[in-house]
Amino acid sequence: MSKTMTCKELGGVCEQIFSGETLMDIMGKAMPHMGVDEAHKEHIAHLSETTGETKDQWMERMQQVFTDKPED
Ligand SMILES: [Zn+2]
Repeated sequence: MSKTMTCKELGGVCEQIFSGETLMDIMGKAMPHMGVDEAHKEHIAHLSETTGETKDQWMERMQQVFTDKPED
């Protein structure tokens, strides 16, 4: 009963897949990955400028994406 999101969907830059039963579960796995190289770190650091969203708005959108996903 888990769902899958890609690094890109989570604001990253590659196609790495993370799965979990909740968004928090997925985020917990994805966060260490976001520091994996300069490309990721740089991208994440400027994410709020790129999207124009606050962290809360971004989290809300991620939750929506997660909710809309089919179960694996
Ligand atoms: Zn990635």
